[in-house]
Amino acid sequence: MNASGKTLLTQRVKVSRGEIHIIEERCKQCRLCIELCPREVLQESEKVNEKGYHLPEVVEEPEKEKICVSCGICEVACPEYAIWVREKKEMHQGRGIYGKNSSNR
Ligand code: SF4
Ligand code: SF4
Repeated sequence: MNASGKTLLTQRVKVSRGEIHIIEERCKQCRLCIELCPREVLQESEKVNEKGYHLPEVVEEPEKEKICVSCGICEVACPEYAIWVREKKEMHQGRGIYGKNSSNR
């Protein structure tokens, strides 16, 4: 039930996936992209850039729904403009929330 008292229903919907790109020399290991990713698909890797900073990497776990959904939060959050996401053409099953009287597209 939401704040207005309406019942919310969940169902599986198609959502787009993202392909993450990192401009390695710009990263300063601030971890903002890792901490803010709502799908928890980023983690710190062992790989370091030329300045010695550990780079983020993508680790997707579909069974735990840890899948990049191309939301762009990491891209917006990065203070160094070191990470960006490109929407993939393929789609995967995700979970959507609808109001009881909304139409399912
Ligand atoms: S685009 Fe969104 S889901 Fe994908 S890695 Fe960035 S923050 Fe996470
Ligand atoms: S937010 Fe940018 S600078 Fe910070 S760890 Fe992620 S890619 Fe590197």
